[in-house]
Amino acid sequence: MLASVTPSDRSDGESSDDDDGGGDEGDGEAEPRPARHPMDVASIITQVSIDDERGGGAAAASRGKGSFSKAVVKKNRNKKSLFGSFFSCFRKYDGEPAVPKSIAIEAPKKVEENGALLKPVERPLLPELRPLDEGKKCMVIDLDETLVHSSFKPIENADFIIPVEIEGTTHQVYVMKRPFVDEFLQRMGELFECVLFTASLAKYADPVADLLDRWGVFRVRLFRESCVFHHGSYVKDLSRLGRDLSQTIIIDNSPASYIFHPENAVPVGSWFDDMSDMELLDLIPLFEELGKTEDIFTILQRHRQR
Ligand SMILES: [Mg+2]
Repeated sequence: MLASVTPSDRSDGESSDDDDGGGDEGDGEAEPRPARHPMDVASIITQVSIDDERGGGAAAASRGKGSFSKAVVKKNRNKKSLFGSFFSCFRKYDGEPAVPKSIAIEAPKKVEENGALLKPVERPLLPELRPLDEGKKCMVIDLDETLVHSSFKPIENADFIIPVEIEGTTHQVYVMKRPFVDEFLQRMGELFECVLFTASLAKYADPVADLLDRWGVFRVRLFRESCVFHHGSYVKDLSRLGRDLSQTIIIDNSPASYIFHPENAVPVGSWFDDMSDMELLDLIPLFEELGKTEDIFTILQRHRQR
């Protein structure tokens, strides 16, 4: 039963993907795997990667058909590097289409993989609101492909190089900042109570946030273990935050991340390396409007339908 192992079941958020060995590069998003149940490989369709986003490659074509042979899956897994286990950018989907920007989607019932209803949250993910943030809405901000793009392959003009230890070996992670991320973060920090919420592991994402957030914009950082594993994706369940959902907004490049709360979302295109990208800058006026409004849903719906 897939739900027998969820991200939150492991305190460190590590993958249980150990039977591939550390050398099996390309497992993409670390897939919580049943402890004593063979993995249903056929349920793994593909990963979100730059190829998929650009509509290229056999993987994208196969994804549309919802069928992947084991051979194809294995081949693709081998292409990717270990960092897929640590970053959230290679997210596996179960063949469900992404949430279109213009269509309101009814959120699915929150059911774990074994069909059981999720247990009520005993303690919210967020601490009590700081006095400084009284009256501010909560802004949940994704990391990979929303604010930065990271790679284990050396990048000449990387903004940060972060050492990450994996199974006793230190690997260098090369991180590039999305254009205007500094301006975006600073403004978000003025307008909202900002929370970094990433499906990546803390051992990678925490040092990235240390370097990225020079202003202390992020009041809290949430990592993979705070996500809900649902239908092959790590979902950021906003109802677990402990904030008023009518005052909570999420910006994320992966629609699967906010599948429980699509009405709270500001979709953003996945960013990999386009230095002419303006999306973060262009979104600032929308967030300024959201910061002032009593009714975020009307504004967010209008934005998604553009
Ligand atoms: Mg992302």
